Amino acid sequence: MLLSGELEWAKGYGDIFTLVKRAVKRSLGEHRMGLMLYLGNLPLSVGAFHPLGTNDIVLNRRLLKAAKSELKQKAHVFSILLHEYLHSLGYADERQVRGLTYKVCVENFGSEHPVVEAAITGPWVNLTQEDFAVMEQDLDLELVRDFERIDIGYII
Ligand SMILES: [Zn+2]
Repeated sequence: MLLSGELEWAKGYGDIFTLVKRAVKRSLGEHRMGLMLYLGNLPLSVGAFHPLGTNDIVLNRRLLKAAKSELKQKAHVFSILLHEYLHSLGYADERQVRGLTYKVCVENFGSEHPVVEAAITGPWVNLTQEDFAVMEQDLDLELVRDFERIDIGYII
């Protein structure tokens, strides 16, 4: 079953991230918890950033404001969160992550859906920890509340 309808109903980052996790679980059989999402002002060529060794994903607030329609914006958020989620699962190689992002999008949305286009076009620019440190003072980080829903039946 495709996730296209559910993406249209999705409200906010938490809903979209829930779909990202379901798609990855279905396509790759992998899963993890404990991520935090922040919005920050990154350069426009950058979609998001996952500082290695942290549980944080920083999503580019400026890029989201530039999206032309709500569906396109959701498609970008989905593909970017998916990309960073794969990094957080331990995939470090950029080419491999892009390939997997494409595969997961096609398998869960069909090849004609805007998320597939977003997965192909990016923006995919690699930031180093040093780049991130330089930007830090202008980032204006904002924590997104209710980003990660606790799975029903999940017990620590
Ligand atoms: Zn990447």
